[in-house]
Amino acid sequence: VSIDDQSALADVAVIGAGPAGATVAARLAQLGHRVVAVGRGRARRSHRCETLAAATLDLLTMTEADRSVRRAGFPAVEAMTVAWETSPAIRPMPPGSLLVDRDRFDGLLVDRAVELGVTVIRATAVRRLHNGSNWQIELNDGATVRARFVVDASGRPSSLRQSRPDALLGVTGRWNVALDRPTVVAVDDGWIWASSDGSQSCEVTVFVDPRAWRTLGPDAVTRYVHLVDRAGVLPPAARMAGGVTSGDATSALASEVCGSDWLAVGDAALALDPLSSSGVQRAVQTALTAAVVIHTVLSCPADAALALDHHRQVLARSAEHHSAWTRESYAAVSAVRPTAFWTARATPEPRAGSAAAALGLHTSRSVPPPDAVVRRSPLVRFVEVSQVVGDTVRLAPAVVHPGFDGAVAYVAGTAVVPLLAPLDGMATIGDVVGAWTDTMPAAAAVELAHWLLRRGVIEEVAV
Ligand SMILES: Cc1cc2nc3c(=O)[nH]c(=O)nc-3n(C[C@H](O)[C@H](O)[C@H](O)COP(=O)(O)OP(=O)(O)OC[C@H]3O[C@@H](n4cnc5c(N)ncnc54)[C@H](O)[C@@H]3O)c2cc1C
Repeated sequence: VSIDDQSALADVAVIGAGPAGATVAARLAQLGHRVVAVGRGRARRSHRCETLAAATLDLLTMTEADRSVRRAGFPAVEAMTVAWETSPAIRPMPPGSLLVDRDRFDGLLVDRAVELGVTVIRATAVRRLHNGSNWQIELNDGATVRARFVVDASGRPSSLRQSRPDALLGVTGRWNVALDRPTVVAVDDGWIWASSDGSQSCEVTVFVDPRAWRTLGPDAVTRYVHLVDRAGVLPPAARMAGGVTSGDATSALASEVCGSDWLAVGDAALALDPLSSSGVQRAVQTALTAAVVIHTVLSCPADAALALDHHRQVLARSAEHHSAWTRESYAAVSAVRPTAFWTARATPEPRAGSAAAALGLHTSRSVPPPDAVVRRSPLVRFVEVSQVVGDTVRLAPAVVHPGFDGAVAYVAGTAVVPLLAPLDGMATIGDVVGAWTDTMPAAAAVELAHWLLRRGVIEEVAV
């Protein structure tokens, strides 16, 4: 599908060319599909700099977009100054974390998608019409893209989720000073993120309750400056250059994430609280899985329902983890700053792990000797779950156990059912590991056995 021939039928049209859109488009092109991506050009976000979690580059190796990102010379983030529930401390970051200018970073991912054969149209999709068995997407220049499948990668919905008690508004300004390292600071009525991207200025975003700010009008700028000054994140001589911009930053899972011929990825499906600094990583991750889901729908229609359900489940699990993590992080501050902002976001939820603890698992943490007798836990159940196997979604055998977070089919790339199923009596740990060395190196077998013992999936038996 060339730009001149937009009326030809594409396999997939992707709306939005941020990290999620560019990645899903690139991966689908690698899998042999004809893909058109419609991007708006510059994203309308309130800020420019973001931390790129180190694991993102590993994910981007799938489309080889990591190469140009590594070459781009984005500054490394080796440490952050964090004043969360405690006074300021310097915390090291995982090696490989970067501070990226999002316009440039997004541009590199789009360039890679183009190299892989994606047709990228820079315009705004103004209207989408479902026409019989295919989609017609009308662009603002009057052109139409036709596609069998549509991906919504358009980012956060623009409407603020003001009614939610945990709603979050990000207000950003640029200041005339450089910072040695990114800084996160909790204050009574919100938290602050400040970072320089290698230039002689920095961006400072305050995350606050939108209900207290939306009605302020021009007073919002005064309030923003006052909050930044009061927090002491910048030297006293710092001055703001220009005005402020704002945007929704509430974490949210979309009520519908897919249908038979469409699917949402990245922030359009699941937007995370910026505190995690992993929105881009999650966007790329959901995009890579979504590409496999779409590939299954298009190339193996019999498995379409299974694949789409897999997409729903992956996002629901991800949302649940993120929500528990976020609550815990806010609860840590609410213990020392019991203000309305923190307590509203800190309501604790029971963690999945607590069930295992309540059942008395994980009690024996020391590594047993090779002649110790073990058995498969009677709580282990064998089930079938949807899994990404190669480039498609299929049903695969998996293990359910209270020590696992959900059903597990693979551990470190090894199918776990063939290892546990034969273990239906008692055996020494040495024998168990010995049997596994038929399919994996001895050191990996020992490590896996200890990992399963720590989770109570295999357990030591007193004889
Ligand atoms: C204040 C703030 C700070 C953050 N800081 C970090 C951080 O430090 N680290 C981190 O990893 N994450 C951070 N995030 C989260 C991160 O920005 C998102 O998770 C990430 O951008 C999601 O990628 P995406 O591709 O899903 O969406 P986006 O990056 O929003 O991309 C969507 C794209 O679609 C385009 N688009 C929208 N509508 C249309 C349309 N109709 N037609 C065509 N194109 C369209 C947009 O212009 C945009 O280019 C932060 C978020 C906020 C709000």
